Amino acid sequence: MTDIVDSSTRSRMMSGIRGRNTKPELKVRRYLHGRGFRYRLHVRSLPGTPDLTLPRYHTVVLVHGCFWHSHDGCTYAYKPQSNADFWRRKLDRNVDRDGEVERALAMGGWRVLTVWECETSERQLAQLADVIRGGPTPQERAHDSASGGYCE
Ligand SMILES: [Zn+2]
Repeated sequence: MTDIVDSSTRSRMMSGIRGRNTKPELKVRRYLHGRGFRYRLHVRSLPGTPDLTLPRYHTVVLVHGCFWHSHDGCTYAYKPQSNADFWRRKLDRNVDRDGEVERALAMGGWRVLTVWECETSERQLAQLADVIRGGPTPQERAHDSASGGYCE
């Protein structure tokens, strides 16, 4: 097929494609930024180098990949069958580390919000924005978060 676009057009298209294939973290960042939230990224002086830190709200947002952080009950959090022991140890270690990081952040006075990669729909990000502004967390609000449904 003939190449019909010039290189600057193509690079613009490519960056557009890359923009749509967002990693969940980029999606969260873009959403919050568009809603006027200002945050710092990967603050090394905080435990676990949180993905987003919102000093104004004393809140950190951790964006977790479902596989690497073993999202409970999530279909993306599969356990590999080959090298099962290796993976179980590795993934368990991640979960332990997540717990330690969250405790350390909480002890430092931070509100810790976790966003799972499978929970980054517009509606769920809108809810995240509410929670950052001081609303109840989904855990506080939902009767059954495992169902993925909301009661309102
Ligand atoms: Zn998940």
